[in-house]
Amino acid sequence: MRHLTKLQKQVEEYDKRYGWTEDRADHITLHMSEELGEISRRILRFEGYKIEKFDKGELSEEITDLLYLTLKLANTFNICLDDVWDSMWERYEKKTSRK
Ligand SMILES: [Mg+2]
Repeated sequence: MRHLTKLQKQVEEYDKRYGWTEDRADHITLHMSEELGEISRRILRFEGYKIEKFDKGELSEEITDLLYLTLKLANTFNICLDDVWDSMWERYEKKTSRK
């Protein structure tokens, strides 16, 4: 089993256990925005814009919260991220090799 597929399966099983497999895509994306905001706050702390203590552990948690929701959103649409990951790299390689 490829890496992202394994993670998507883990998310699917977790969501099934708690009855969260029917969550709406728009709600998932709203939660993603919320998590991105939480990541942004940690980055603003890191850069010193916010005078609050930066904690790398907190940033790590927020990044994984967003990753969980990304996997969940992909599951909602039955998207195999391993497949699209490979095609994304092909696109990126083509784009960067043109320079
Ligand atoms: Mg969070």
